[in-house]
Amino acid sequence: MHNPSCNICSKETKDGIYLLRVYICHSCEKEIIDTPADDPKYKYFVQQMAKAHRTMIPS
Ligand SMILES: [Zn+2]
Repeated sequence: MHNPSCNICSKETKDGIYLLRVYICHSCEKEIIDTPADDPKYKYFVQQMAKAHRTMIPS
């Protein structure tokens, strides 16, 4: 069986969590937590999650 792949870095891992139905690996989860909200990188994470979220919900 395939492991789900992270919606941020697309790494396949079973060691991840679903955040707002977006799958995030452990290292990305940690990075998101460690990134302050005013960091441009945080915006990137949010964008990736929004993008992944959109593809999962047919409009
Ligand atoms: Zn990841």
